[in-house]
Amino acid sequence: MDELVYKLILLILLLVFMAVRGPDISRIKKREKKVIKSGRTDMFLLGLNTLGMMVFPVIYCFSSFFDRYSMNLSDTLRIAGIIIYAASIVLMYIVLKELKGDWSMKLEIGKGHRLVTSGPYRYIRHPMYTAFYLMMAGQFLLVSNWFVGLFGILSFTILCIARIPNEEDMMTEEFGDDYTEYKKRTKKIIPYLI
Ligand code: SAH
Repeated sequence: MDELVYKLILLILLLVFMAVRGPDISRIKKREKKVIKSGRTDMFLLGLNTLGMMVFPVIYCFSSFFDRYSMNLSDTLRIAGIIIYAASIVLMYIVLKELKGDWSMKLEIGKGHRLVTSGPYRYIRHPMYTAFYLMMAGQFLLVSNWFVGLFGILSFTILCIARIPNEEDMMTEEFGDDYTEYKKRTKKIIPYLI
């Protein structure tokens, strides 16, 4: 398939992804916060992540700037990337339905925040991050570009490594034994594995 078709498909997928998250994000921004834990490092890593998930993919779609880093993957692999990316959107939709607004892009707890342990949270504590991993893996194959692909995967991995322990400490401080017990019976991002 022509590169332009892949660029168009990525743009559409990215827009659908943003449309799925958009309404929640604008509602959550207005919500009163009870605990705020995101420091400078978390904000910097979130920024890096925005480059990897939004800015570089959009530059890839609208220019030939990154074309010099192309990996020339086969159509089969690139189509597999489209399917994985689409699956990440489905998982994100399911996760957001389960959270019902009890989350935030930053490390924060809102007023009246519940601990969610149902749906995908029954098996893993960070299904939204699983969805982002799928998105970044799908993007890597779909763009067939090592710079854009690796930047997305690595920036998200660094964010997860730095953030997950702080997020879990915050949740333990807020929800006490309920979160400690929940941690014992769940994995982080892959059911039964990690
Ligand atoms: N780590 C979770 C949520 C990501 S959003 C996931 O990947 O699915 C990060 C915010 O979600 C945190 O600041 C916290 O407010 C909230 N959060 C994390 N785990 C939660 C849970 N089990 N129930 C409710 N809120 C949670």
